Amino acid sequence: MRYISTRGQAPALSFEEVVLTGMASDGGLYVPETIPQLSADDLAEMAGLSYAEIAFRVMRPFVNGEIDDETFRRLVTEAYATFSHDAVVPLNQLDANHFLLELFHGPTLAFKDVALQLLGRLLDHFLKKRGERAVIMGATSGDTGSAAIEGCRHCDNLDIFILHPYQRVSEVQRRQMTSVLADNVFNVAIEGNFDDAQAMVKASFADQSFLNGTRLVAVNSINWARIMAQIVYYVASAVALGAPHRKVSFCVPSANFGNVFAGYMAYRMGLPVERFVIATNANDILHRTLAANDFSKQELKATLAPSMDIVVSSNFERLLFEAYDRDGAAVAALLERFQAEPTALADAPLARLRERFASHSVDDATILEVIREAHHRTQEILDPHTATGYRAAERERGEASVPMITLATAHPAKFAEAVVKAGFPGVPLPPHMDDLLEREERYTVLPAELSAVQQFVVENRR
Ligand SMILES: *Cc1c(COP(=O)(O)O)cnc(C)c1O
Repeated sequence: MRYISTRGQAPALSFEEVVLTGMASDGGLYVPETIPQLSADDLAEMAGLSYAEIAFRVMRPFVNGEIDDETFRRLVTEAYATFSHDAVVPLNQLDANHFLLELFHGPTLAFKDVALQLLGRLLDHFLKKRGERAVIMGATSGDTGSAAIEGCRHCDNLDIFILHPYQRVSEVQRRQMTSVLADNVFNVAIEGNFDDAQAMVKASFADQSFLNGTRLVAVNSINWARIMAQIVYYVASAVALGAPHRKVSFCVPSANFGNVFAGYMAYRMGLPVERFVIATNANDILHRTLAANDFSKQELKATLAPSMDIVVSSNFERLLFEAYDRDGAAVAALLERFQAEPTALADAPLARLRERFASHSVDDATILEVIREAHHRTQEILDPHTATGYRAAERERGEASVPMITLATAHPAKFAEAVVKAGFPGVPLPPHMDDLLEREERYTVLPAELSAVQQFVVENRR
């Protein structure tokens, strides 16, 4: 198995290379050259297995023998042992055929843990094998930073530097990052906004000479291994509800499209999926594209579901590659037009997408209404991201015989602002985190200057 770029120009890579690489040199994203298949028997045999064992079986073909089975099984088992629920990602039944897939039982209470707990271990494994060290740099406005830190804190060969805008992230989100006191974790508070932080990370990737040859690694959602790890919970939840004998539908609160693309991969591997429902907040590029063929950027809106506040959905490119029959030149041309001006998809690829995907955009007022309504009907308090999914799923309920699985992407305690606005007193943090607000913190405040940040990285990496 090799990995190829969605723009057709970059060299094909092995699994190991693709984990260490991130974006392709032609600006595209890596995808597997062929999609491994799960037969009905393979799926039937997964019934009743542990999450870690299903994860091992689903991901093994993508790893392509580049990690021996025993080691890969150990990495997977360790990654999912960090989750506080024995089922790792439990299904919670809301009514006769609507289920919540709770993806928030990891160390930082959001679904990004599922991928980043594994990615940190994969990176560390390959770096040790090569006798190399690497530096991770990332900018965060909240969620991804803490999940990346938790994924890397035990990795001997990695140093991680996460930049957040000083005094502009919520206290819970800041403390989830800054209370990790491991020797290889460096939190930097930038005297500027998120865009300043992101610009410095981008500039560091564009010119890595300040690191004198040490590899700089990105752990954002364009890394193939993150998609790979997310395929697993689609398979595990569908099997729990009767796959391969019964179809399911999924509803996915979406932003950069990494999560729902993983679901699409599960479908292409052979999982019987009736339909994917994409839920967006007011930042609705995915919904506008699917519903109105309006593939254009709009200004960023700050919403009650901040982890879904995006202008461009980076992983949508991976789905376009499939919709355009893996024609890298066509994808490259489309995305070049998109960067310059509002554009549209060609008819045939759009029709292909509409066969399997529906979409809805959910505004802030509706998020609050849904949190109240869902609590009234089910006693559950939803986080604002999951609330967008709940509403989209309710609108797209198909046949009663096909269960709808809505992905619960964060724990409500993490987004107390929306929960309080909806009229609830708030939600307590789970027991293993209830001392978060008393824990010691460590971070360094730096001016929004590239040279200051790079000097800090060079002086502190081990
Ligand atoms: C990142 C995130 C999303 C969006 O996921 P994508 O893979 O970017 O589509 C949704 N909800 C929460 C809570 C998130 O952290």
